[in-house]
Amino acid sequence: MAAAHPAGELTARERKDLKILALFTSVYCRAHHPPPRAPLRVDDAALRPLPLHKYPVCAECAAFLGYAFARRLRCPLDEKPACKHCPVHCYKPGHREKVREIMRFSGRHLICRGRIDLLWHYFF
Ligand SMILES: [Zn+2]
Repeated sequence: MAAAHPAGELTARERKDLKILALFTSVYCRAHHPPPRAPLRVDDAALRPLPLHKYPVCAECAAFLGYAFARRLRCPLDEKPACKHCPVHCYKPGHREKVREIMRFSGRHLICRGRIDLLWHYFF
């Protein structure tokens, strides 16, 4: 079990996962929630290089995204499996539903716009 980011930096995999979480949440938010929206505020210096300004979210989605980030960074599995196959089930029930809903909606949205390159097998 390696520490998530011992040098205070994200691994390439973590960066990719967090970016896709932020992107998907902001796509979902834009379609479902009223403004105002703002980029997620992060305290962890390791998260600052993420282009979060590109993915503004409302207050409700910011709370969710902050939670999702924390869960992802604390994932105890070295080779993270597809979440649906994961034995840990790190999201608590309400949040797990929301993750599924967001991934389903934003995944479809991006496929419709030809952004299939943004999708990773483990979201579905
Ligand atoms: Zn929202």
